[in-house]
Amino acid sequence: MTVTALGLPAVHRSSDRAIGAPPEPAPTTGPLVDTYGRVATDLRVSLTDKCNLRCTYCMPAEGLDWLPGQALLSADELNRLLRIAVTRLGITSVRFTGGEPLVTRHLEDVVTAAAALQPRPEITLTTNGIGLARRAAGLKRAGLDRINVSLDSIDAAHFARITRRDRLADVLDGLAAAKAAGLDPVKVNAVLDPVSGLEDAVQLLGYCLDHGYQLRIIEQMPLDAGHTWQRGSVIDADTILAALGRHFDLRPDQKPRGSAPAELWQVAASAAHPAGTVGVIASVSHAFCSACDRTRLTADGQIRSCLFSTEESDLRALLRSDADDAAIEMAWRKAMWAKPAGHGINNPDFVQPMRPMSAIGG
Ligand code: SAM
Ligand code: SF4
Repeated sequence: MTVTALGLPAVHRSSDRAIGAPPEPAPTTGPLVDTYGRVATDLRVSLTDKCNLRCTYCMPAEGLDWLPGQALLSADELNRLLRIAVTRLGITSVRFTGGEPLVTRHLEDVVTAAAALQPRPEITLTTNGIGLARRAAGLKRAGLDRINVSLDSIDAAHFARITRRDRLADVLDGLAAAKAAGLDPVKVNAVLDPVSGLEDAVQLLGYCLDHGYQLRIIEQMPLDAGHTWQRGSVIDADTILAALGRHFDLRPDQKPRGSAPAELWQVAASAAHPAGTVGVIASVSHAFCSACDRTRLTADGQIRSCLFSTEESDLRALLRSDADDAAIEMAWRKAMWAKPAGHGINNPDFVQPMRPMSAIGG
């Protein structure tokens, strides 16, 4: 597949069709493909839209209605969809996210069920780390392979301003427990604050190198509940790398990137810190949609082919109307077949999805 300078897939498989011909139907077997030839193998599962933080770029300070309890998938419904994804659709990697996945009590049970699937998928978790200190060892025993803990600043005042909660110590304890439990690697996801972000990034990288965590800095995307995101306020990848480069000796990582969203840099050892790596995820300034291998399931059973989808496919309704596995599989295939070429953030006609990130699952 060729790729345009915007990071979009250039060749549309249906481009040879005569003008006015009906669209090709989604394939009924084989991998989970879209019309651009991308194959989805990585499933992101949002377990809840609830959260115990209120990050400014994700949730409002107050006033966001939770999904009603009966709208959420039960553990049995979720386990069935995971089985269909792995055994019929070729999903090889499952990441649990939210909202905050640690606020769901059945997380360990869901991980255990996912780990029993054949072929066993890789199982990962994205969490804000609150409560992880108590649960990291149990999650590892249940079958969790890797973890990403979100942390935007190690300055307690900055952390409290960004997350609107004074919980930095809990997150740092959670990170330490994840490492002690043998989750490897432990990655730290950071979204930079427009005001303190560059200072925070330098401190975070030093902290992560010292503790053996892998830092990933993510450009802020238009997925905030208040729809206040502005392109001009995003600290972009080039600015982040320039700031880090003033404090650390960075060399581009030579390994092929594949579908991984992060561009990786090797950080040389110094008198102050050991060597390590840092990644920058340039979702806005250097979109990587052409290599996207993701499909997303919301906590209320909707398939989203893209973080920025404005349309969803309702698998919960099928689950609750006694549809068989083949019908659910086909609905999932159709949803992914219609995946757009790219997120379109940089287009003048871009429309931000109604759901904030907390209700989609990052
Ligand atoms: N609560 C968990 C956490 O924070 O890790 C999981 C859900 S959170 C929505 C998943 C990831 O999305 C986090 O790493 C968070 O920083 C990131 N995120 C949230 N809003 C974002 C935005 N507007 N742009 C970029 N990343 C965002
Ligand atoms: Fe909660 Fe994660 Fe969103 Fe922060 S980014 S408000 S921790 S869901």
